[in-house]
Amino acid sequence: ENFQDVDMGEIVMGNIGLSRYTRPTPVQKYAIPIVKSKRDLMACAQTGSGKTAAFLLPILSQIYCEGPGENCFSPQYPISLVLAPTRELALQIYDEARKFSYRSRVRPCVVYGGADIGQQIRDLERGCHLLVATPGRLVDMIERGKIGLDYCNYLVLDEADRMLDMGFEPQIRRIVEQDTMPHKGIRQTMMFSATFPKEIQILARDFLEEYIFLAV
Ligand code: AMP
Repeated sequence: ENFQDVDMGEIVMGNIGLSRYTRPTPVQKYAIPIVKSKRDLMACAQTGSGKTAAFLLPILSQIYCEGPGENCFSPQYPISLVLAPTRELALQIYDEARKFSYRSRVRPCVVYGGADIGQQIRDLERGCHLLVATPGRLVDMIERGKIGLDYCNYLVLDEADRMLDMGFEPQIRRIVEQDTMPHKGIRQTMMFSATFPKEIQILARDFLEEYIFLAV
């Protein structure tokens, strides 16, 4: 019932303290221990449920425990990737990631379509440990050789049903199924979706390893 129930390390706990979050929402209460235990997760949760912090807090906590390490020197190789359907959602996730990585060495970045790619590339070059991206723009970045997912140990698909509705499945598969991406079972993968139709079940089967199913 309390954020203090799971130890997410000094930095995350401190930043929760600085935020106005007093109690975990249901999705946070259940998802945080699952993610901390390094299991893959398929969570059915609506917008407004607090799902963003449910994946960001434990991922940041893991990154801080493991330390940015060597990847720190390879800004084009994020440790964590969050895919989101729209620019608005990507920016919201990025804002939350900035809030919870305050006073840490972890640098979040965001890339999305319909904006100047040159500026986004320059921002990535300053260092990026946690990348929030819309699928089309990320494919573009990968094809230009500006991003490698070789060290991406944490993968999140947020609002997966909306991404499929918007026709992003080929881009998502292009990103997740490339050879250089750590395979399932090696990376940790979390999918969030408001609904759980056949297409999402297939994606979960293809991307997740022995996952825990959570519906809130
Ligand atoms: P989300 O579902 O992640 O988009 O979050 C919906 C809104 O709830 C956002 O404005 C969050 O900042 C806020 N929020 C998330 N978790 C909490 C919490 N534990 N306590 C208070 N507000 C929260």
